[in-house]
Amino acid sequence: MRITDVRAVYPKWARRPRGVWQSHFWQIVVEVRADTGVIGLGYGGGGPPAVEVVNSHFRELLVGRTVEDVDDIRELWDFVYLKSLPYGRKGIPVMALSGVDLALWDLVAKSEGRPVYELIGGLRKERVRAYASTGEFERDRDAGFTAVKFSTQWTGHERDYDDTVETAARAREVFGPDALVMSDCYMSWDSVVSIEMARLLEPYGLYWFEDVLTPDDLPDAAALRPRVKPVLLAGGEHEFTHHGFAAVAQAGALDIWQPDLTWCGGITAGLRILELAQGAGVSVVPHRGGEIWGLHFIAATGCEDLAETHPDRWEPASETLWLEEPHPEAGFITTPDRPGFGVVLDEAML
Ligand SMILES: [Mg+2]
Repeated sequence: MRITDVRAVYPKWARRPRGVWQSHFWQIVVEVRADTGVIGLGYGGGGPPAVEVVNSHFRELLVGRTVEDVDDIRELWDFVYLKSLPYGRKGIPVMALSGVDLALWDLVAKSEGRPVYELIGGLRKERVRAYASTGEFERDRDAGFTAVKFSTQWTGHERDYDDTVETAARAREVFGPDALVMSDCYMSWDSVVSIEMARLLEPYGLYWFEDVLTPDDLPDAAALRPRVKPVLLAGGEHEFTHHGFAAVAQAGALDIWQPDLTWCGGITAGLRILELAQGAGVSVVPHRGGEIWGLHFIAATGCEDLAETHPDRWEPASETLWLEEPHPEAGFITTPDRPGFGVVLDEAML
């Protein structure tokens, strides 16, 4: 089929639910139309600047090209990556490319009447274990979650140690001895704080510390990794493409890689990243993996059986862009077997 149009839109994100951090992550919608009448829908990052990149540059690169299968998607990915390389490689252009890539996967899968996970290689997980990124421990335990991640911020005060210990202790108490408990400090710790946290949090058996340093601190992360064991170092939501993750592998910086499928270059980049991870002997747990884009990827690959969800975003006051997106039940999410990604866009949001 021939691509007849490529269009990105920044949705009308307006109603931000109270207390929800970055409810929409500046996400964009990408639509790829083919001469067969099929429309592929994807989700990218980067906000209005990424919309501009797609509509002003990627569109002219892609309209008129043909796409039939996954090999063609890979070829188009490489083509767009190369053409945007002078200003791209990371950040907004790759977030834009992610949206295009996911739309192409959706387009090809819909054309074949198959779910995206089948194009990736077939369903390997009937259901995926979900974890809750949350502060509402009782609510989410009662909803059936057996894995939880709390956020914590280092503000430069000694009492931050006490606050974090208190939160970890509460998470462990609420979710019980068998639950996975993780922390995310959003790049606010340093190596000294991390080592002290590992010591103080030892009684609560945390699984990973997420985003401890910035993505530019790879050597420090590599040096820190053995010093917080048995806690694992997780990160990578701010890293891009297999080229970016090759540097992470080279440095030996992380135990768990967390590419965001809507930012890192889509499923095409995700598969290349996963291959590198497997070669490096580390596991992959995509950022926001419980959203439909990550879910198909996790369900069809050797990713760890763990998908991040943000239960606050399902509160009634939240805005919903993708309808029919599955939510966890009793702590597990099932990937829909409808064609493409299997979600429906709420057009009123565009
Ligand atoms: Mg994070």
